Amino acid sequence: MIRQKYSNEIGSADYGTEVTVAGWIEDVRKLGSVAFIILRDRAGTLQVTALKKEMPIEQFKEFTSATRESVVSVRGIVQQSAQARNGYEILPKEVKVLNLAAAPLPLGVVDKVEADMDTRLDNRFIDLRKPNVQAIFKIRSAVIQAGREYFAQNKFIEVHTPKIISASSEGGTALFKVKYFENDAYLAQSPQLYKQMMMATGLDRVFEIAWYFRAEEHNTRRHLNESTAFDIEMAFINDETDVMNTLEGLVHYIWKYVAENCQTELKTLGKEVKVPTLPFARVSYDDALKLLAERGRNIEWGGDIGTEDEKLLGDIMKENGQDFYFITRYPLAAKPFYAHPEGDKARAFDLEYCGMELSSGAQRVHDPKLLEERIAAKGLNPKDFEAYLKAFKYGMPPHGGFGLGIERILMEMLGQDNIRECILFPRDRTRISP
Ligand code: ATP
Ligand code: MG
Repeated sequence: MIRQKYSNEIGSADYGTEVTVAGWIEDVRKLGSVAFIILRDRAGTLQVTALKKEMPIEQFKEFTSATRESVVSVRGIVQQSAQARNGYEILPKEVKVLNLAAAPLPLGVVDKVEADMDTRLDNRFIDLRKPNVQAIFKIRSAVIQAGREYFAQNKFIEVHTPKIISASSEGGTALFKVKYFENDAYLAQSPQLYKQMMMATGLDRVFEIAWYFRAEEHNTRRHLNESTAFDIEMAFINDETDVMNTLEGLVHYIWKYVAENCQTELKTLGKEVKVPTLPFARVSYDDALKLLAERGRNIEWGGDIGTEDEKLLGDIMKENGQDFYFITRYPLAAKPFYAHPEGDKARAFDLEYCGMELSSGAQRVHDPKLLEERIAAKGLNPKDFEAYLKAFKYGMPPHGGFGLGIERILMEMLGQDNIRECILFPRDRTRISP
């Protein structure tokens, strides 16, 4: 291999021995017959101290004149060094310049001045070389790992449902239309109808790490046109509280996992993760309206709790020491047709973090007659849902589920102002490349 060890895997046990390291040249400081090179790899940086007399002259020249961000591999002796950043330096015997970087760079990796978001995203491959940007994606990987562990422990089966769908999904969010041979098709806004159909199969508990495609018209700091989510459905529930218990357990597991496994990345980001205590507060929609009215914000019953009011409610809950809380029992009209009615309300909930929606979920309608009624009540045509409705006619157990946005988790957990920080190549109204 071109690399034997990462920079953080070298320690006192290696002093005096030979090692091969590789990475990107972050900085070169040349002082006549000696040069100090900072080499960066996934784990951090290390110092290479190149002595002209200790290596082939051609290699010394090539190495010390290489441009910033060139890719090199170095075989050399590890030596303790009080001056070097991590307590050791590498004295090279052999250096290979594997690829020279062109100059000037379109984006600096170690620049003090922060480039604007567009420049960063246009050069995302370099942006991602920055340790603080990389840290977000290392934590993202841990979040997904934690989710998978939690679902396995709770007897969920991972599934993948189609992303190209024929027609009407749930209504609400606009869909992206795609050409499908002679016909039109759409990109799935969520696995909703398919994961519900899975409940008629006897698999009982399914989860998907799902892609959502949504033609959200407006550029906001919390919406993407292509996003990911933990999306689950579970059968044989009593009501939506079984789903809420599963959701808060998942969130707790994820926060704890990151707090325990991602200290290095959190330190790089200068963030702390506070593991929440269970259970999360549960505030009914009616009580949420009362709390808001006490602060002079009057929402008519049945109305949407808009972004501003959602934020205010977040502040009120925080004053009571609650970062996470559920809003429960929404007016039926405010939730999609598949939410189970309870009088004029729905057995539906949102999970909020400091005024930001992380998840929506509900018990679903499992009675086919009621389901048809609810579809019609929403002004949709039950004929468009035939394939879905069929799954309810031959033995469908009571069930419910939720969708929990992965970028929203990261955004809130890591205090990022813009959701675009939490996905590799964001898609928004004005960006579809790279
Ligand atoms: P919002 O009201 O915040 O636009 P929503 O209610 O339309 O979200 P749901 O359909 O409830 O979203 O989706 C479940 C979860 O998926 C949301 O709670 C959120 O975490 C995430 N999510 C939904 N749409 C987006 C999006 N456009 N970009 C990023 N995450 C999203
Ligand atoms: Mg929602």
